[in-house]
Amino acid sequence: MRTILCATAAMLIAASGATAQEPAGPVKFVRYQLDGRTSYGVLEGERIREIEGDLFGAHRPTDRWIDLAAVTLLPPTDAKKVIAVGLNYRSHLGERPVAAYPGLFAKYPTSLVGSGADIVAPKDAANLHYEGEMVLVIGRTCSDVTESEAPACIFGITAGNDVSERDWQAADLQWFRAKSSDTFGPVGPAIARGLDPDNVLVETRVNGEVRQHERTSDLIFGTATIVSYVSRYVTLEPGDLIFTGTPQQTRALQSGDVVEVEVEGVGVLRNTVRRR
Ligand code: MG
Repeated sequence: MRTILCATAAMLIAASGATAQEPAGPVKFVRYQLDGRTSYGVLEGERIREIEGDLFGAHRPTDRWIDLAAVTLLPPTDAKKVIAVGLNYRSHLGERPVAAYPGLFAKYPTSLVGSGADIVAPKDAANLHYEGEMVLVIGRTCSDVTESEAPACIFGITAGNDVSERDWQAADLQWFRAKSSDTFGPVGPAIARGLDPDNVLVETRVNGEVRQHERTSDLIFGTATIVSYVSRYVTLEPGDLIFTGTPQQTRALQSGDVVEVEVEGVGVLRNTVRRR
């Protein structure tokens, strides 16, 4: 049985608990730790305004303001499921044919780290690559939704790095260690709400050099198709994340490399590679 019906944007905002005190246009939410306490807040410039309540339900801004520089950014949700789409840009496919449906795999939630955390290469990781991606943040429980119902399931978007060990990806039975090793899922820095997920720029830089640069309007399977398709098999829940695929080509990373994934309107996800 379907657990969601199509909603207008106004209905979605009302259902999400967004209040009239939030500014018009895209809103950026961050999840952070300060003095051992985990909180959500609205990012405004270099300051965070803490919110109370459930990010995906009723919440309201408080009068507590914190400097962004004072907090440790966490993955922007406490995701139960992290799902990823592979081979979703023609520029990444190369000579391979376009598939009839989105190719899915799972990443463990324990692979997630926030912006500023290190990507820690296991001792025997010899061919570690970045994959800059736009990541969907699910905002409500969705099961077997149609493509027209799917946009109402999306709370917002963030940036992600689907860190991949290519030798293991090619050799192993499943992508367990290639894609889900600890720290192989940087996400953040914020959830941007109010953007069109099917038309934002994704750019990846390594040590400042642009390596990937393409808009999500080039996705082979757009976000409504992805969400509808995934929801056919698993019930999506608030906070779940869906990596939507990486454009163009990737190259190996070295210890000390600084990888930045910038999604237009979201901000810059920045992580440094180090060897264990
Ligand atoms: Mg990927």
